[in-house]
Amino acid sequence: MNSTTKLIHSIPTDPLTGSISVPIYQTSTFVQDAPGEHKGYDYARTNNPTRAVLENLIAELEGGQLASAFASGLAAIDAVVKLLECGDEILAVDDIYGGAFRLFTHIYAKFGIKVNYTDTTDVANVIDAITPKTKLVWLETPTNPTLKISDIEAIAAIAHQNGALLCVDNTFASPALQQPIKLGADLVVHSATKYLGGHSDLIAGLVISKTKELGGQIKFIQNASGAILSPHDSWLVIRGIETLQLRVFEHSRNAITVAEFLQNHPLVDQVFYPGLTTHTNHHIAAKQQKAFGGIVSFSLKTDTEAAANEFVCNTQLFKLAESLGGVKSLLCHPATMTHKSIPAEKRKAVGVSDSLIRLSVGLEDACDLIADLDQALSKVHIASGTLETVN
Ligand SMILES: *Cc1c(COP(=O)(O)O)cnc(C)c1O
Repeated sequence: MNSTTKLIHSIPTDPLTGSISVPIYQTSTFVQDAPGEHKGYDYARTNNPTRAVLENLIAELEGGQLASAFASGLAAIDAVVKLLECGDEILAVDDIYGGAFRLFTHIYAKFGIKVNYTDTTDVANVIDAITPKTKLVWLETPTNPTLKISDIEAIAAIAHQNGALLCVDNTFASPALQQPIKLGADLVVHSATKYLGGHSDLIAGLVISKTKELGGQIKFIQNASGAILSPHDSWLVIRGIETLQLRVFEHSRNAITVAEFLQNHPLVDQVFYPGLTTHTNHHIAAKQQKAFGGIVSFSLKTDTEAAANEFVCNTQLFKLAESLGGVKSLLCHPATMTHKSIPAEKRKAVGVSDSLIRLSVGLEDACDLIADLDQALSKVHIASGTLETVN
């Protein structure tokens, strides 16, 4: 069966009433016939029927055995780290999501978990950096905001040889484009706030496990630590997932058009988009992804915060905001927004230059989006002096 048809029909209708929409079980507890005799649900932190529909749905979409839904993407990441013990090490991609960096560095370092960072776009770096204490390898691919691509299959093999688990943050690609478990990953996490929700109207996170055993451990942590997703937000994510395929492929189509426009613009320096053949690991992206996603980053030839500021304050359709993956186009300036807490040298070392701008290309008409970028770029030219200063 076609994957879209399968996706739409794997969301169950309500067996009790026939409701075509999944009911929102807004309850804290479930009445029991006798102590311990219930219908599979006893307390809503432990389990909730609405949340269970979402968890089963995402497990199927990612090709995993079990999934757990959390109150945010970071709560999902936090649950995975809790699989580790004091003295264990994580080996993570260097261009990691800022919130994951903060959690690893400022929370888990205190509990004796060490994190080493390496440029995972080159498999040789992973082989060099992995140690006997590495129990978890952490990838994002594509990364935020420079869209670096790592080879999931090759890195899964290295992790497993070393007795470590591989977790992939699949937020940027979504399961519509990439299924890390099928490529060897043990765990997948999502900020469902982004493409899975898809409408910029909720905060949510998911962990999907390859095996029942690992999934059981995550479920235990979900219940024990308690950062669960609410029934209403679970319902919103289910509704978002109904149109996931449609949205993500359209985001990708718009993004490649935008990336090609930027690549040919005289004021633009570098364009970061895995769909461009000039991207370092384009061939790996083409191997492991069905399309290249909706995020495009670029730097200006005038590589200053002032020039970037001039640009981001002059777009009309692209709204200046953190986050991504929604219907409406957004843009952000990582150096002064999402990556502000990272020291300038460290930030630049991973490719986040002063003028780098990240676009979350939405579902508006591509011609309108390009016209918007074009007029905002013309403002940069005027504001930052002359074209002559640009080489
Ligand atoms: C946003 C994001 C997160 C964090 O998710 P929240 O839902 O904001 O907690 C984690 N990873 C990536 C790649 C993200 O973009």
